[in-house]
Amino acid sequence: MTTLAGVLFDKDGTLLDFDATWGPATREVLGTLSGGDERLFRALAETGGYVPDTGSFRPDSPIIGGDTTEFAPAWALILGSRPDEAFADRVNRLYRAASLTHLTAYDDVAPIIDGLCDAGLAIGLATNDSEVTARAHLEALGLLDRFSYVAGYDSGWGGKPAPGMVAGFAAHANAPTEAIVMIGDSPHDIAAARAAGAFAIGIARTPRAAANLGDLPDVTIRSLTELPAVLGRHFALPSRPIA
Ligand SMILES: [Mg+2]
Repeated sequence: MTTLAGVLFDKDGTLLDFDATWGPATREVLGTLSGGDERLFRALAETGGYVPDTGSFRPDSPIIGGDTTEFAPAWALILGSRPDEAFADRVNRLYRAASLTHLTAYDDVAPIIDGLCDAGLAIGLATNDSEVTARAHLEALGLLDRFSYVAGYDSGWGGKPAPGMVAGFAAHANAPTEAIVMIGDSPHDIAAARAAGAFAIGIARTPRAAANLGDLPDVTIRSLTELPAVLGRHFALPSRPIA
């Protein structure tokens, strides 16, 4: 049995309640970008897969699993702006401020991550959000010091579904990728884990996540409280049992 070296988490929909955080944040960002023009607001929402009437997202929304480069250029064109890096930076800044205001983590996150740390595992974050926003989120949640590795789409490893972030974490943990678990709520997370040779755990906290993940993951759990038992079934653990 392989001894587990580290657990790499996706952020949105895995640690953070996606709709509770990004629903109101997206309403604010689109409100600012559209300057209060209802027609523009609706066009931006449609392109981003955001449903203003419910405050939720379509399953195919690029905001769910994608990075800014997958939706900001289309927004720029709708607004008559240049779809350049400056526009993407502006979107990232607006989202950073708005998401911090509405940041909502799941209740199981802090206790489970504490248990993994105590067991001697390396803890990492691999997100298609920007690294600076990811660090701000972890800091606001009081979790940043538990994470020895934080990678965003702009950290130099590439974004998911490419394997770079997972391979980078394995190198950071000084372990082979088979000794790494990647856990996330979208097919991007599972594909990145697979491509790197890591164990892929899906987390289906919502029916939308369950539908998107399908049977792609090695194992799918519904909350992080199920994680220690799953790890114990598939890996030897480095030191003490996970609480
Ligand atoms: Mg996610």
